[in-house]
Amino acid sequence: MAMQTELIKIEREHMSLSAMKRAGKILRAGGLVAFPTETVYGLGADALNEEAAQKIYAAKGRPSDNPLIVHIADMEALDRIVEQAPETAKALARAFWPGPLTMIFHKKECVPMGTTGGLSTVAVRMPSDEIARELIRQGGGYIAAPSANVSGRPSPTTAQHVYEDMNGRIPMILDGGPVQIGLESTIVDLTEEHPVILRPGYITLDMIRSVTGEAEMDKGLIADDSSVHPKAPGMKYRHYAPKADLQIVEGPMEQVVSYINRQCAVFGKAGVICTEETRGRYLNGDVKCIGSRKDERSIASHLFAILREFDEDQVERIYSESFDTPGLGQAIMNRLLKAAGHQKIDVSVR
Ligand code: AMP
Ligand code: MG
Repeated sequence: MAMQTELIKIEREHMSLSAMKRAGKILRAGGLVAFPTETVYGLGADALNEEAAQKIYAAKGRPSDNPLIVHIADMEALDRIVEQAPETAKALARAFWPGPLTMIFHKKECVPMGTTGGLSTVAVRMPSDEIARELIRQGGGYIAAPSANVSGRPSPTTAQHVYEDMNGRIPMILDGGPVQIGLESTIVDLTEEHPVILRPGYITLDMIRSVTGEAEMDKGLIADDSSVHPKAPGMKYRHYAPKADLQIVEGPMEQVVSYINRQCAVFGKAGVICTEETRGRYLNGDVKCIGSRKDERSIASHLFAILREFDEDQVERIYSESFDTPGLGQAIMNRLLKAAGHQKIDVSVR
């Protein structure tokens, strides 16, 4: 029989301590609680309790070799779960924690293999969201939490998205409203000689270099073919696949708009991902505005919600403009390309 799922509204400014304590108690007893972070909603379990962490895989339908990120609320917690955090990690923590940065370390014995997908390394993040921080404290200090979606669906950016995917599978969802950033954290590997970005996010390569000097992107992320495998296990899965076939259209804006218009005139059930700058120029189809090109954060924060909306609208094809902006653009395109199964067309060469 399906479990009853409680959805509780939490006010960030005046948090209900009794609700937070109840959530913490579920975690300490080995149960699951979904909660907001500044990046996306997470599905939490006690990271040091192997059985609890395993429940996350079951609820999400997540492959068991895909490791979890351990969330902490203070620096003392870091030293208890990792072997010798290098000086670069401490500098990165001072610059970006609490915040949307995950770092990979050699793990200590107390972190079970069931949390790290069998790896001897562990991913750690200190989120800035106050609800997340309070829940981590109430839940025992170490909360494993991947995104709170069913595996393969877009990451949830509202409690409603979590409810769609997790209703009946977990006992509690904390509703803190829409998240701020809307893309998962940047992941940096600190077990190599220089920091290596395994997953792009809000914290960019340039921001990391400004602290550590040297840093690079994982070769598997930038390779256009599939000859180099990404180092982060999760990056090999096709995430965020919408039900419709998604194609990214690149090129000069005039040509992009007219190409998409021509396609939509032919296909009955087509969707379009456009921007404030172009929204008035699409004539047919289910047109959704993702944000403004002048504010790349607006684009990042709406991407996953829009992919979910298209699933509901039951369109058969989606055409998206491309978003290669300087800062967050890399992270946005990384997620969009995965959603599109790397289907991309350049209309400038036609
Ligand atoms: P999610 O929490 O769903 O955003 O996924 C966490 C992702 O972090 C995983 O899919 C991995 O790609 C990455 N990750 C977690 N732990 C490690 C690790 N020890 N080494 C490399 N990548 C990791
Ligand atoms: Mg995820």
